[in-house]
Amino acid sequence: MATYIVNAISKEVHISTNTTAHCYISSIKDNHRIDTDMDYAKVYPSRFNGCPYCYKEAAVKA
Ligand SMILES: [Zn+2]
Repeated sequence: MATYIVNAISKEVHISTNTTAHCYISSIKDNHRIDTDMDYAKVYPSRFNGCPYCYKEAAVKA
């Protein structure tokens, strides 16, 4: 399993082992979903954000 699940549309990065019901991973369409070991929130901080539920450290600060 990849470390991260990225939604290419919402630009949210989820941590695979940390996902919650609020992440709605199952509703991400296959062609919008990127399973990867690369942390998009760190590599592309201006384009991707951590999910506020499973990856708070990289989520947008309210
Ligand atoms: Zn999440």
